[in-house]
Formats: sequence, structure tokens, C-alpha cells
Amino acid sequence: MSLRYDLHTHSTMSDGSFSPTDLVKYAAKQQVSVLSLTDHDTTEGVAEARLAANSLGVILVPGVEVSVTWNHSTIHILGLNVDPEDTELQQGLAALRSFRDWRAKEIGQRLEKTGIAEAYKAARGYASGSSIGRVHFARFLVKQGYATDMRDVFKRFLVKGKPGHVTGKWASLEQALEWIHGAGGQAVIAHPARYRMSVTRLRQLIGEFCECSGEGLEVVSGSHSRNDCITMATHAQRSALLASCGSDYHGPGNPWIELGKIAPFPTGCVPIWKSPRWKQYFPIHK
Ligand code: AMP
Ligand code: MN
Ligand code: MN
Ligand code: MN
Repeated sequence: MSLRYDLHTHSTMSDGSFSPTDLVKYAAKQQVSVLSLTDHDTTEGVAEARLAANSLGVILVPGVEVSVTWNHSTIHILGLNVDPEDTELQQGLAALRSFRDWRAKEIGQRLEKTGIAEAYKAARGYASGSSIGRVHFARFLVKQGYATDMRDVFKRFLVKGKPGHVTGKWASLEQALEWIHGAGGQAVIAHPARYRMSVTRLRQLIGEFCECSGEGLEVVSGSHSRNDCITMATHAQRSALLASCGSDYHGPGNPWIELGKIAPFPTGCVPIWKSPRWKQYFPIHK
């Protein structure tokens, strides 16, 4: 029987709504056999997730989703199989989280100017001790009736040109890959179709990613249409990148898809778990 993989998920350690334990429990319920917890700019939930995974028979792949600024755009690079104890990775992620905290205050001030009071305080409450992301502001704004749902709130308040937008100053592509590789991990370009880049620009990104020895492309993502998956499979093959898949699950009411409900790879993809780095999980490759 083939295993079910979900290699992109979030917990309350970033902007997901399940604790690491509850996420793993839910993954087990969804019959996910191999799960990666990939919180934004933190591996803090990995230890807790690993404990839960051990008791439920789920294979937990330690991961992280690193925020990157590339050519004036924010993109996300997944680090799979990273060692959470790695000092340089942790220093890098800590710097990204301090930018997050500064950005959150800035978002709060900008919203204040448009007449929305106490947004920073509320977002901090939603983040409950973890570093603050735009989703925490979004939850507050929806609750207060400023928008109808998550998509609506992002479109009206939190993207370029809107009142609560602050330009990201994240890691460079080179830095992100150095941290991930230094921590023994594999780098994967997350949800490539979501950036809506031109083919030329996407090829440039993939080219630079390959120059930094990046390993994979998230061909199947919860936020990709089937056509997106097929297009990304072509890009992966063209550049000899391994294929990854993940729901990008954030909790109930997820804007993307369900945890573990992952479409199969289009033909011609080489799954990332076929690479030697994954042998630790499977004495016999599946
Ligand atoms: P941040 O890293 O704090 O800038 O927030 C990025 C996160 O916001 C993503 O990982 C998603 O969870 C969420 N997000 C971004 N765009 C949208 C959207 N249009 N609708 C819903 N959630 C979104
Ligand atoms: Mn998120
Ligand atoms: Mn992402
Ligand atoms: Mn994600």
C-alpha cells in the first residue's frame, strides 16, 4: 500500500490553528503516514509534533517554511528534514521573527491611521505568544466585520497597495538555502504557482534556486489547480528538481484544501522522498 504524504502544514507556532499535537492527531485521522510540520520561520513546534507522531505511528519530518525576498517579491522556501538544533538555522530564523514582530507593530500603526484601533494588540492575542503573521490580523479584522472572510480581508487590507501592507524584508534566497543545507535539510520552492510569475521570471527563480543547490519544487500544493500542478511538474522535470506535495493546511476553515487530501503527482515526477536523505525513515524505499 502506498503511503500518504503531506509535507507542508502549519500549527499554532505560526499561523495555523491547531497545536502541534492536535495537528498530528488530525493527520493520523486523515490517514497521513508521513507529515511535515513547516511553520513560518520557526521549528518550535517540531519537538511536540514528534512526540505526538511517535505515539500515533505517524512519521514526522521536521520542517520549516522560510520567508524569502527575491527580486522584490516574497516567496516561501520549505526546508524539509532540517535539524532543529542547528545554531545557524536558528539564528537566521530568529532574525526573521524579529522582522515579523517589527512588521506587526507597523501593520498595527497603519491600520490605526485608517481608523481601526487596537489591531496590534488583538493580533498579539491571536498569536498567543508565537510571532505574529498577517493571518492573526486577518482573524481580528474578520471578527470585527471589516471583511467577510480570509480571502476578502487579505485582498482589502493586507496586500500591496492596501492600508495594512508592509513590504517584506526577509532572507535572501542564498541565505535561506545556506541555513537549510547547513541544517542537513532539503530546500523546496513552496506553492510556485501562487506567485503568479511569468514563465520567464519563474524560470529565473528556479535557475537561481538550482545554482544554490536547491532540491525540490512543490508540484502539488493545496493552493494549486490541477493545471498548476501539471505546469509545475513540467518545470520540475525541465530543471531536474524533485517533486514535493503538501496541503499547506492551516486549520479548519483553511483557505486551501484539507489536510492529507493530496492529489497524485502528474506523470514524470520524482518524489522527493525517493532521495537518499529519506532512507532514515524507510529501511526499504517505498
Ligand atoms: P505572513 O507570512 O505573515 O506575511 O503571512 C503569509 C500567510 O498569510 C500565508 O502563509 C497564508 O497563511 C496567509 N495568506 C496569504 N494570502 C492569503 C489569502 N489571499 N487568503 C488567505 N490567506 C492568505
Ligand atoms: Mn500561513
Ligand atoms: Mn507559504
Ligand atoms: Mn505554508
